[in-house]
Amino acid sequence: MVIWFEAGHSFTGEDVAEIHLHGAPVIVRRLGQILTSQGLRLAEAGEFTRRAFLNGKMDLSEVEGLGDLLAAETESQRRMALRLSNGELARKADGWRSLLIRAGALVESSVDFADEDVPENVPQEVFDLLAEFRQELDEQIDGYAAAERIRSGFEVAVIGPPNAGKSSLINRIARREVALVSDIAGTTRDIIELRLDLRGLAVTLLDTAGLRHAQDRIESLGIDRARERAAAADLRIHLSPTGEVDESLWQHGDLKVVSKVDLGDRSSDLAVSSVTGEGIDSLLEYLFTVLSVRTADAGLVSHQRQLGALIEARESASEVDGLPAELLAEAIRRAASSLDRLLGRIGAEDYLDVIFSSFCIGK
Ligand code: GDP
Repeated sequence: MVIWFEAGHSFTGEDVAEIHLHGAPVIVRRLGQILTSQGLRLAEAGEFTRRAFLNGKMDLSEVEGLGDLLAAETESQRRMALRLSNGELARKADGWRSLLIRAGALVESSVDFADEDVPENVPQEVFDLLAEFRQELDEQIDGYAAAERIRSGFEVAVIGPPNAGKSSLINRIARREVALVSDIAGTTRDIIELRLDLRGLAVTLLDTAGLRHAQDRIESLGIDRARERAAAADLRIHLSPTGEVDESLWQHGDLKVVSKVDLGDRSSDLAVSSVTGEGIDSLLEYLFTVLSVRTADAGLVSHQRQLGALIEARESASEVDGLPAELLAEAIRRAASSLDRLLGRIGAEDYLDVIFSSFCIGK
């Protein structure tokens, strides 16, 4: 069965024929051979989307959204990617552009009508419009950190002294062997990562090498790395059977968790046993609550490239009070061209290869 999409009505905007075949690989292969012998070739990874972009069917933020959607592992990633790929950021940017167009027109007219001898008088509305513009952009800029976390996932480091039960806890959570469990102190030399879908949030649990004073050079390298990774993580679970924490790594919002609760101390709110499974669900529940609070103010902008364009636009529209009309008009034009960059109407060439490298063939 062949479906014919006329130019303008296909995903890429070009004339497209879609051929539907029975799934037997030999049939697909045979047709492939016939078509390639007629001078056709296979599409490259992301080529359909690249053509759709170049033909103006999608803007760059929608392309990025589609890339995120293809890579999404969890529900919150999927939801955010879908909003972006459906053009929500592009629609917002169009709204911001309208503010700039109105402000620009007011500035131009104040220049046109200015008497040679009378200094031009830029109406207050221009400054109000620019203030509104800045405020809208600030909302997205402020929501970047949380949105970026949703997109790329939170990192949670499990830290604590050797034999605290870190690897056992992570294994229990994974319900499979991801970390080497042993009762010889210092076995976890490398950082082991476990990707979790925590009720729709992407979370990477880091199993760090036992934090202790090591004699062994290799082990002490492992400890340095573990400390760096742990300090940079979004959150640390400080695990020990006694409830002690490493003060030098403690950051606001961290969790203190008592391990091996099957052997004794039950006084702590967060106490787990990797042997009996006690407390593991409550710990995950608590972790989810803490992290989801941090996603509350997430905006739509989750890519560094998009953030850069927004910050540029924001800067152009800042400190405009008292500027003469010509400079004001220039600032407004600069802000508008940063919005064009946001949507890839200009300057997209530098990003296309990177963006499409994550796409698959057929997309
Ligand atoms: P790590 O060095 O912090 O990663 O600690 P491990 O996970 O390797 O555990 C050290 C030892 O404690 C091992 O012998 C584990 O079997 C034991 N262990 C870990 N968690 C528990 C627990 O919840 N209860 C008991 N009884 N033993 C545990």
